[in-house]
Amino acid sequence: MSDEPLVIAEGLRKVYRTGPKEVVALRDVSFTVNPGELVAVRGRSGSGKTTLLNQIGGLDRPDAGRVVVAGETVSELPEAGLLRLRRDVIGFVFQSFGLIPVLSAAENVGVPMRLTRTPSGEREDRITMLLAMVGLEKHANQRPYELSGGQQQRVAVARALANRPRLVIADEPTGQLDSQTARQIMQLLRAVVRSEGVTALVATHDPALLTLADRVLELHDGALVPAGSPAQAVPGA
Ligand code: ADP
Ligand code: MG
Repeated sequence: MSDEPLVIAEGLRKVYRTGPKEVVALRDVSFTVNPGELVAVRGRSGSGKTTLLNQIGGLDRPDAGRVVVAGETVSELPEAGLLRLRRDVIGFVFQSFGLIPVLSAAENVGVPMRLTRTPSGEREDRITMLLAMVGLEKHANQRPYELSGGQQQRVAVARALANRPRLVIADEPTGQLDSQTARQIMQLLRAVVRSEGVTALVATHDPALLTLADRVLELHDGALVPAGSPAQAVPGA
């Protein structure tokens, strides 16, 4: 393993244009994330968290700047390269869980491995391991609507890890959960970053969850607030 950063963001700028209106969603955002780190992205609603994660994960392209993940320049990859990156290198967790309603928990976890044509025996073994890791071994055959919100998000975390990604990107993964369940999901992410050796970038505006992160990046109106500046010290800001 090299000690290169797993994620490099350099001078990211993103402007949304709707008609004559322009919204600058990211302003010259630069940072790195080292392998094995859990980095939280904090900022109030509209500060640019989702926009930032979308540029890192190759779901969208910046207007200026560069994103490198695991040595690949995401911001310059053609569509086929982005598909491969999102399948093999990055696992996503979303606020709304994003599970397929007609599939069981186990089948949802298996979806990414079907995309990579993982042999069925290996796939079943990994599904069993992942469901046990997130504490859902007894719920493998339940559909999402038969699970609580917290359980659904556990399935989504297991699915995100299915193809052994280098990076997990989670956009407000606890935004739809009560505070106790939210903390359990953050603790689960914290645990899998250690046990699976992955790196995680997690957007949240919940101050209670930030304590579990190795480091916090703070966005304010599309710009990163420098570490140690007063804005970062204000609790709950
Ligand atoms: P956050 O995730 O922190 O709430 P977002 O990244 O969603 O912030 O949004 C940052 C800014 O960009 C906001 O002002 C938002 O209204 C604007 N924005 C986000 N997505 C779009 C879009 N698709 N079109 C136009 N404006 C957008
Ligand atoms: Mg958002």
